[in-house]
Amino acid sequence: MIKPFKKPIYVTKPFLPRFEDFCESLKEIWDTHWLTNDGPVLQRFTRQLSHYFQTDNACLFTNGTLALQIGLQGMGISGEVITTPFTFVATTHALFWNKIRPVFVDIEPDYYTLDPEKVEAAITPWTTAILAVHVFGYPANLHALADIARRHNLNLIYDAAHAFGVEVNGRSIAHFGDMSMFSFHATKSYHSLEGGLLTFKDSGLKSTFDYLKNFGFKSQVEVVMPGTNAKMTEIQALMGIHVLKYFDEIIEKSQQIDTLYRERFSTVPGIHLPPPLPEDIRYNYAYMPIEVDEKEFGMNRDELYEKLNQYNVFARRYFYPLICDFACYKSISIVASLKVAQKVSERILTLPTYYDLSLDDVNRICDIIMHIHRERTTAMQITEEVTTSRTYSISKVS
Ligand SMILES: *Cc1c(COP(=O)(O)O)cnc(C)c1O
Repeated sequence: MIKPFKKPIYVTKPFLPRFEDFCESLKEIWDTHWLTNDGPVLQRFTRQLSHYFQTDNACLFTNGTLALQIGLQGMGISGEVITTPFTFVATTHALFWNKIRPVFVDIEPDYYTLDPEKVEAAITPWTTAILAVHVFGYPANLHALADIARRHNLNLIYDAAHAFGVEVNGRSIAHFGDMSMFSFHATKSYHSLEGGLLTFKDSGLKSTFDYLKNFGFKSQVEVVMPGTNAKMTEIQALMGIHVLKYFDEIIEKSQQIDTLYRERFSTVPGIHLPPPLPEDIRYNYAYMPIEVDEKEFGMNRDELYEKLNQYNVFARRYFYPLICDFACYKSISIVASLKVAQKVSERILTLPTYYDLSLDDVNRICDIIMHIHRERTTAMQITEEVTTSRTYSISKVS
């Protein structure tokens, strides 16, 4: 018998710097009384990120959703945008707030990102952009999408909310497409309490984004566009600076967890993992998605999810339901089949992985899943034997 965890294990747990270090660094903000509006800490953070991403075209926001919303607005995206239904709702909300019609297209089965072939088939005269997601930090099909965007003269935008630290061929993922949005929300593997970042190709967009996030102010007496308020505060920026120092360590730990999960699940029937990524990709190991095959495992994803709750393990069904199945998007007509997305969404379960999670606890989570599988399959065998022997005795009687 395996005992439940004493304390709940959630899918993630935000990394925090040492309390004393953070408090010490707060003194700068207390001294200046500069709390928000492009203060010295935000400026420092922006410089650090520019260096990290090797680009001057970087703009910080109070969260990723507003970053994406303003990014789309600043680029003048309109009409229809081809996107994925297998993502967090904010991807689609950002389109909606810009009065853009989302056109949902199916994903590919290995890494769950937009299927380029399906994208091409969904282009209409109203299409202005592709909004792809590096879901779970897995790079979308960068070259095929870039090729389609170029041939059809479309903007290529990436929701890179999960992809901080991901590199392709030694280059940051931020350098692909016309614009990328990174989320620094507390639940992401890199965070600044809350926060968002846009990186973009066209340096002319920088001032537009700066105006849009600050009510459209160009100077004290000039408002050049109807902007909103989406500024990052000094304390958010300060947290971002602290966590950045540890980010390589965070990735390293997450990689150890990933390796252990992969090793353990190689012997569990019905638990499928995305294939290892190609050599040229430096992954951030931010998520641990598994697919549950009901026949092989002995129970479906939802049952396993509920069972794990009984052991105090709170995995998440990312991403279920699909965006197009939420009440507020139900009225949008779906042109093509979303077969792969539907299947994945019904089978996917995202397991705990975070800096603080010990390898012992990962082993225990795997033991629990193995135990749940054995318990169920043994029960099924007994039922089978009972039914077989009953049929046997009945046939003997007759
Ligand atoms: C978290 C997330 C967002 C939104 O970012 P926030 O910083 O929470 O506003 C957008 N897209 C995806 C895929 C996300 O996971």
